[in-house]
Amino acid sequence: MTVDTSAASAATPASPSGRHRVVVIGSGFGGLWSTEALAKVPVDVTMISGTSHHLFQPLLYQVATGVLSEGEVAPATREVLKKQPNAMVLLGRVTEIDIAARTVTSLSPLGTTVTPYDTLIVAAGAGQSYFGNDQFSEFAPGMKSIDDALELRGRIFGSFELAELCTDPKEAEEWLTFVVVGAGPTGVEMAGQISELAHRTLRRDFRRIDTTKARVILLDAAPAVLGTFGDHLSTQARKQLESIGVEVQLNVKVVGVDNTGVDVIDPDGTQRRIDSRCKVWAAGVSASPLGKQIADQAGAEVDRAGRVKVNEDLTVPGHPEIFVIGDMMNLNNLPGVAQVAMQGGKYAAGQIARRLRGEPAGPPFKYFDKGSMATISRFHAVCSIGSRIRMAGFLAWLMWLAVHVMYLIGFKNRLTTMLHWAVSFLFRGRSQRTTTRQQIVARTLMARLSATEEELSEVRAAMEAAPSGSNGSGDADESQHAEAHDTVAELTNAYGSSQKVTEAKAESRTTEQGAS
Ligand SMILES: Cc1cc2nc3c(=O)[nH]c(=O)nc-3n(C[C@H](O)[C@H](O)[C@H](O)COP(=O)(O)OP(=O)(O)OC[C@H]3O[C@@H](n4cnc5c(N)ncnc54)[C@H](O)[C@@H]3O)c2cc1C
Repeated sequence: MTVDTSAASAATPASPSGRHRVVVIGSGFGGLWSTEALAKVPVDVTMISGTSHHLFQPLLYQVATGVLSEGEVAPATREVLKKQPNAMVLLGRVTEIDIAARTVTSLSPLGTTVTPYDTLIVAAGAGQSYFGNDQFSEFAPGMKSIDDALELRGRIFGSFELAELCTDPKEAEEWLTFVVVGAGPTGVEMAGQISELAHRTLRRDFRRIDTTKARVILLDAAPAVLGTFGDHLSTQARKQLESIGVEVQLNVKVVGVDNTGVDVIDPDGTQRRIDSRCKVWAAGVSASPLGKQIADQAGAEVDRAGRVKVNEDLTVPGHPEIFVIGDMMNLNNLPGVAQVAMQGGKYAAGQIARRLRGEPAGPPFKYFDKGSMATISRFHAVCSIGSRIRMAGFLAWLMWLAVHVMYLIGFKNRLTTMLHWAVSFLFRGRSQRTTTRQQIVARTLMARLSATEEELSEVRAAMEAAPSGSNGSGDADESQHAEAHDTVAELTNAYGSSQKVTEAKAESRTTEQGAS
């Protein structure tokens, strides 16, 4: 029996157990399904992920709109894998894959970890794409993570609260105008839920505003809602959205997003503005940058969304020891959906098992399309299976319910999810309406803090390069140092007494004393 050495040989030290080392990047659908499929294979699996949870992304919009809690859609990965002795879970954001040395470098608050592998499964998924307009993200969060969903929950419920406080009716209207960009499944589900909140759930909760007057606008540059579901379901979905109060605006291009609104261009070329304080970005994805990193080293190609063009067995061309799966891979333009990632994960695990048994490689990866579905409102969904079955309405909604409960991980999660669905769908309630200010502002403030830290390190570098009163270059040194001082003072004013600013001020004083 021979082992496929191209996949099994390692340039890095052998594992203490002497077993084949599989490193899996990501704890999403691809990562978790591949790890679980390796449970009975004689390998040591190390799963490295930027989050300590698995995330059931299809239900994130329900976290954002107060139906479900984050725990119900994001169980701890460690808990899910606790009965799998050959799997170890490491927290860390992978920053580098060295395909020559066969190592993965990850960052955690404790520093850097380098993990060697014999076989690598990369399932780091995709992030939100703003099509080159990343500045929109400050005002229109996307929905890819628990943080995103909780921020959106804070923004959505917070908008109703602030509208209640407004004395200016025009400003109240802005707070009560919700814009969702992107009419794919996520955008449709989000718009439907916000509309249900306004028209049903919150109807009796406020005294000064009438929440049923809220506008929920669903925008897309494409000509159809749920375009990939085909004409019939697309029309049904649009009708249902309109019947629950969502304004659907198609063929409309977003050209600007700021704190108080969205600028759009209509099909006839007219530019107009929609005044809105709460925006949601549900358009466009781009694959993890790790894909490009691998492709650059392997001489492979990536597509416009950053997905790696893989071989038919999901490996990177020329590198049978690296599988790229799920939202990061491009194989025959398969869609970025959970089933592609799950089936890819299982397939990669199967290939590894065959190699270790010395068997020839299995047949190419074949995706089994189990269909697509999206909910529009309570009791109404659309569902497309194969080329024939198209359903819209209550039956499709029941199917949606059953499928989502089936794929949720863990008995506890299934049970509480069903209870919370009963509260929301049969009655008016939302079990998860708690929001905090931190939830809303943390992302933006953290981004500003990083920018501040970068500026400060530049200031420090400048001060080190030209200390005040240093002999020699006279006026130039003085002015550079004065400028550095001004920057520190400016940042201190802007960001208060953050530790970094205080340290920098102290450092600048020390430099001055040393120089005088
Ligand atoms: C809001 C939303 C709704 C969706 N609805 C549906 C739906 O109804 N049906 C459907 O089939 N699909 C749906 N999808 C798509 C589906 O969720 C994805 O196709 C699927 O999650 C892809 O799986 P994956 O394993 O490739 O990536 P993911 O599930 O995204 O997992 C990526 C993992 O990699 C980790 N990671 C990322 N970068 C790094 C790094 N540098 N270092 C370490 N770890 C990293 C992440 O923390 C995460 O654990 C939806 C997606 C979203 C965002």
